[in-house]
Formats: sequence, structure tokens, C-alpha cells
Amino acid sequence: MTRVLSVTSEIFPLVKTGGLADVTGALPAALAPLDVDTVTLIPGYPEVLQALDRGEILQHFDDLFGGPATVVAGSAAGLELLVLDAPHLYNRDGSPYFGPDGRLWPDNDLRFAALGAAAAALAVGLGFDVVHAHDWQAALAVVYLHVHAGRRPGTVLTIHNLAFQGHFPGSLFPRLGLPPGLFSRDGLEYWGDVSYLKGGLLFADRLTTVSPTYAREITHQDAGAGLDGVLRWRSGVLSGILNGIDDTVWNPSEDPHIASPFSAQRLMRRIANKVALKEQLGLAPDPTALLIGIISRMTEQKGLDLLLAQIGARAVGGMQFAILGSGEPWMQEGFLAAVRQHPGRVACVLGYNEPLAHLIQAGSDAILMPSRFEPCGLTQLCALRYGAIPIVGRVGGLADTVVDANEAALSAGVATGIQFAPVTDGALTEALNRAAALWQDKATWTRMQRNALKQDVSWRRSAQKYAELYRALEAERA
Ligand code: ADP
Repeated sequence: MTRVLSVTSEIFPLVKTGGLADVTGALPAALAPLDVDTVTLIPGYPEVLQALDRGEILQHFDDLFGGPATVVAGSAAGLELLVLDAPHLYNRDGSPYFGPDGRLWPDNDLRFAALGAAAAALAVGLGFDVVHAHDWQAALAVVYLHVHAGRRPGTVLTIHNLAFQGHFPGSLFPRLGLPPGLFSRDGLEYWGDVSYLKGGLLFADRLTTVSPTYAREITHQDAGAGLDGVLRWRSGVLSGILNGIDDTVWNPSEDPHIASPFSAQRLMRRIANKVALKEQLGLAPDPTALLIGIISRMTEQKGLDLLLAQIGARAVGGMQFAILGSGEPWMQEGFLAAVRQHPGRVACVLGYNEPLAHLIQAGSDAILMPSRFEPCGLTQLCALRYGAIPIVGRVGGLADTVVDANEAALSAGVATGIQFAPVTDGALTEALNRAAALWQDKATWTRMQRNALKQDVSWRRSAQKYAELYRALEAERA
């Protein structure tokens, strides 16, 4: 039995702002059958403390970055948790990172230093075999363990999105209680700032990110977000392990959110979902139109500005669009304007809406993701599972999970979607043209849908890889 302490700032279903929560929420159960026992350390936000079925208090800190704190063992939503109850840091309404006014909490430096320090103390005190830290918020756990004098567990740091690095003014450094020598170019210093992520990247025994292609991309300057040098230096211990999705939540044959359950064997039943989706969103019934779904944050990363540039022409050309998401105000405005100009062809719902996301996956013919970078991407995995053909930029995890319908893949009968590169206006135009042509060839389209539905997008394979990584680390440190 390998005992792992997972350290994270969010976990599904208790507190989620992105894919990180999905991963930390799903991995423990996927690892359990592989003889890996995972306990998760999470800050004691109000929603976590409320949901917690409390057990014993395992640790007490008189002063953890400005106030007393305790670590409470317990469980919630089937997850085994250690909750860092530090009211001065976490007892407030808002998201893990932002206050209700939408501004970053001014003490995020201390909030996540506390998480790292508590993790290191617990990992040593309770004798865990491996500490698995997620993103910059947990990266200091690795650093505190690196400077720990006695025996310590092995450490793994996973990068879910390199765009977020946890940079704070250099004046913070003395408060972290780390050796002064670590505030240097070979340590946590980054152009005068303190970089939590850089610290983790330098000192973790193993680094992972959420797809093999992203693992390669981030060692290059154009995708390295300023840390490519560090990542090249550590490339010997860096690997990519794809995320999965919860295939019980995303199960087209038993999905309470869709109009008509279906499967690869009962693909005809899928059509009722398209009808229901169009009805709900006020799209014209036109059965010959290719209906493209988008479920996305509306940001530069997701490349939706490229779609905005041609959505009008595409709508006039006969395509239909079902869009769900929120983000940059100018993008939201742009899509709402497209709805006004092309009623019945373009529909857009702003906000976060889980049931509608399921119906879009079940009812759209294709799902578009023109991402400029994508560490793994979950939306295309859901699309494969629901037989919606993913049309994706050939980056990161999108490159690793979608088989492009090129001639070779089509004649071998293995295509599951459409990839395009580079992620530009012109390449997106070509990709949509290819999609429109394939859509006319119903036999090929159906074959691709069946291929998509057959993919294993669950956590099983990835959990196996994490388990192997933990065991290798344990063996190395034994
Ligand atoms: P991200 O970079 O946002 O984490 P991913 O594709 O990795 O992108 O994961 C996003 C997840 O959130 C997917 O499961 C997607 O279906 C879901 N999602 C994104 N936006 C919305 C929304 N507006 N409503 C419902 N679900 C959404």
C-alpha cells in the first residue's frame, strides 16, 4: 500500500474553479483499486468545513502565518480529507482566489504558503510515502520538504496550467521561513519576485503535467510562460499523464440531463437530443445543418476570438452554433451580437450550466475547441464519450486525444475528430470546411462517431500511470 498526501487548493465536488478540481476529486477513487491510499489536504474554506464529517484533530499550529490553525481529519463527498482550518486565512466568502469583488485576495501569498508548510509538517509527521502537490498553490509543500533535514517522502508536482505561477513581491521571502540562499536565481527568485511554482519545479522529485504533448511544449520558449528554462533543466523528471473524465457522470446511456439516452449500439437515439437542444435554445429545426457546440471559458487561451471572426459567415453558410460559457466581456458581447444578427442559427447562453453542457454534448454534431494552448482539456474527452466530433487546435492534450480525420486515419477507420494547426483564422476556416465536407458523407461521419464513442476516456489508464510513478519514487527513496 502506497500512502499519498495530495495537496490542493480545490477539489470536486466541494470547491471548483477549473479542471484542477476535477483531477484532485477523481484521482483518489481511481487509485484506490491500485493499492494507493490517497488523503487530500485542502484549505478549510467555509464550504469545505460545512461539508466535513469531522474526525480527530491531527495537528495544531500556534501561529501559521498570522494566526492559530488546526488540521482536522474527516471525510466529505466520499473523499478522505485533512482540512487545514485556519480561520484568519480561509474563513471568508468568495472563491479560493478571489473575493466577492472579483479581486485576488491580497494575502494569497500567505494563504498558500500556509498550505505548503502544513503539508510538509503533516507529510513528515504522519509518515506518508509520497506528497503529490498540485499547481503553484501547493508548490511550497515541495520546497519545505526539500529543506527538511530528516527523512522525507518523495514529492511529485503536477502542472495543470503553467499560466498560473504564484508570483509575489520579493519582500515576502523572509516571511516564508526558508533558507535565505533560496532567494536566488537557482531558487525561488524570479526577476526580483518570489515564484512558488518555480520553487516546486526546481525541487520536486518528479514533475508531471496533464498531457504528453503539453509536457514537451512547455520546455519551449513559446509555451514555457517564462519557466521553459527551468523545465528544460528538469526535463529528465518531467512527464505527461493525460486526465480522464468521470465516466459515470458523463455516461450517455444513463444521463439524467439529456432528452434521450444513447450508446454506440443505439446511435439513432442521439437525434432526439439534437431536436431537444435546438428547441431549448431556439435554433431552427433544419436537420441538414451541421450543429457545432461550444462549452468554454471565453478567454484568449480558448481561441474563441477566431470563431467570432467568422461565425457570421458560417451562419449565413448554413452552420448552426450552440454556445455555452462566460468570460471576457467583449467576447460575450460578440457572441450575443451574433445571436441577434443570426437568430435560429446562433444561440448563446452565458454562465455556468452543467445540465445544458450535457445536452450540448449529446445534441451537437461537433464540439469546437480552437484553443491556443490546452494542457489537457476535458471538453473534448466528454465530446468523444458523447459522439460529438471534436474539432480542435493541434495543441497540448487536444493533440493527444483526438485522431485527425486525415486520409490515413480515414482509410484505417480510426479517425475520431478534426485537428488543425497552427491555431489561426485560416486554419480554422479549413478545419470547418473539412468538417462540412465530412458531414455530407454520413457513413464516414457515423463511423467517426462510433470510433469516438469507443475511446476509453476514463481515469483508469491514467491512474495506472500515477500509481507507477508513485511506486518508482518510493523504490528510489527506500
Ligand atoms: P478549462 O481550461 O476551463 O479547465 P477544460 O476543457 O479542461 O477547460 O475543462 C472545462 C470543464 O468545464 C469541462 O468539463 C466543460 O464541459 C466544463 N465547462 C466549461 N464551461 C462551462 C459552462 N459554462 N457550463 C458548464 N460547464 C462548463
